[in-house]
Amino acid sequence: MLSETLLKTTAHTLHGIGVSAGAVHGPVAVVSTAIGVDGSEAPSHDAEADSATVKAAMTHVAEQLKERADRSSGNSKDVLTATAQLASDRGLLKTVTRHLQNGEGITASVHNAVGEYAGKLQKIGGYMAERVTDLYDVRDRVICELRGEAAPGVPELKEPSILVARDLAPAETATLDPKIVLGIITEEGGPTSHTAILAAQLGIPAAVKVSGIVEAAHEASELALDGGAGTVLVDPSATEIDELSERSARRTALLSGSQGPGLTKDGRPIALLANIGSAADASKAAAIDLEGSGLFRTEFMFLDRQDAPSVEEQTDTYTRVLQAFGDRRVVVRTLDAGADKPLAFTQMPEEENPALGIRGLRLGMRKQELLDTQLEALSRAYRATHGDVWVMAPMVADVDEARWFAQKVRALGLPKVGVMIEVPGAALRASRVLREVDFASIGTNDLAQYTMAADRLNGDLAGLLSPWQPAVLEMISFACKGGAATHSHIGVCGEAGGDPLLALVLAGLGVTSLSMAPKKVAAVRASLAMHDFSRCQDMAQAALDSSTATEAKNAVLALADPAVKDLL
Ligand code: PEP
Ligand code: MG
Repeated sequence: MLSETLLKTTAHTLHGIGVSAGAVHGPVAVVSTAIGVDGSEAPSHDAEADSATVKAAMTHVAEQLKERADRSSGNSKDVLTATAQLASDRGLLKTVTRHLQNGEGITASVHNAVGEYAGKLQKIGGYMAERVTDLYDVRDRVICELRGEAAPGVPELKEPSILVARDLAPAETATLDPKIVLGIITEEGGPTSHTAILAAQLGIPAAVKVSGIVEAAHEASELALDGGAGTVLVDPSATEIDELSERSARRTALLSGSQGPGLTKDGRPIALLANIGSAADASKAAAIDLEGSGLFRTEFMFLDRQDAPSVEEQTDTYTRVLQAFGDRRVVVRTLDAGADKPLAFTQMPEEENPALGIRGLRLGMRKQELLDTQLEALSRAYRATHGDVWVMAPMVADVDEARWFAQKVRALGLPKVGVMIEVPGAALRASRVLREVDFASIGTNDLAQYTMAADRLNGDLAGLLSPWQPAVLEMISFACKGGAATHSHIGVCGEAGGDPLLALVLAGLGVTSLSMAPKKVAAVRASLAMHDFSRCQDMAQAALDSSTATEAKNAVLALADPAVKDLL
């Protein structure tokens, strides 16, 4: 009894992974979990009739999701549309019918059929495995529909609140209103999950993999979240709330003074660019105070497509993107298909180790018609707009590949050709690789994965995957030296580019641009503006001289303006 009272009156801290910066506090709203299979239901005696009932429920769920998709835009729209498609998937209904024919009850059939389907997706791994959350969302909605209950998920919020969920479904995250949702905390999920990406896009502070939060939230009346550090205070004290609010006010003040091009305090330019995945993203990002797009992940547009996009369709998209940015830079990456982002129309056989297999440019070299179509569309869009288009290949590993790609792009009259540096082989030999092209952009997500031999989608390996790992920084340093030796532009477009502290190290190592989720630009700009370039160089050296990721981060923090902490 005593310990219970103590627990209730003493704030305690839970730790997870911060995925969207910002400090907030407020009442808790727990996302209701699904009601599950009806334990008292009878076995199916008429599979055909029961299948028709399930079909009607699935159609209703698909329509509801589609309606929400129609009211949304950008990534949110894409996620909702994809989930609606899962809800009307004929293969799924067939699987449910098979279970009904086996005599299983109606909700049990839905549950078991989805389990079977999810197993298949998980086996494929990568992006497909991440769709499993969407599939479970469809399952729960259909079961609620069949049981005549309200859909599970986010409760109607009467006041601004912090949402807590085991793993918030992307379809739910996509439609959250940042005015009423103060923050998002999930017990599961990883930094590359849909929830994390969408939260950052919406600008809602968020943390994932916060162990114990669901249980704590049921007891707590208030939470305080630091979405940069990934820490959560359960029932914080008045003093703690005051500290957090002051920090939040300081952050807002720093961000509101952040304008114009990226510059260090002494005026060295570091271009600040947006990562985008569609024409809709482009028009949103172009409306923000930033200097262009440093990464257009073109494959994001086609993840759910069965047929290859035509040259006309792609020309139209690229033209719209170039028009949106006017005379600002747009770095378009050719399809980075394979591994965690399989595209059905590439018809590639399954691989034992897809992350080390035929992906990125390797696939483009083997399916040249896909690459040629895309490059033709890009050259048509360029001729139509005369935009500042830079064309870049993903997953380049050596000089031969860079040369092969550059020759293709230049033959079409496109003005700038570059490569991503995300394979250690390319980083180590960057000066040779860069002789073949005009620029390079470092993909820190994959560069960390391949340097540390740690699957980037595995939340358990987050420590090894940290871009603060000195070995990863050493790789980036090699790439930057290659950039300096060849007088080439060298940017960063992985998640590391959006970290206001790491951005200083990257600038000190010699990168000339940073590309990130558009909402992260203001904090990175404010951080650069607080530090001279020579200080950034000192920070880079201190990080390289460290033995561990934690040491590196602490060494850099010690050299940083103390105000930078308010941006993290
Ligand atoms: C990267 O690997 O850092 C990168 C930017 O590419 P993607 O995340 O799309 O693989
Ligand atoms: Mg990559």
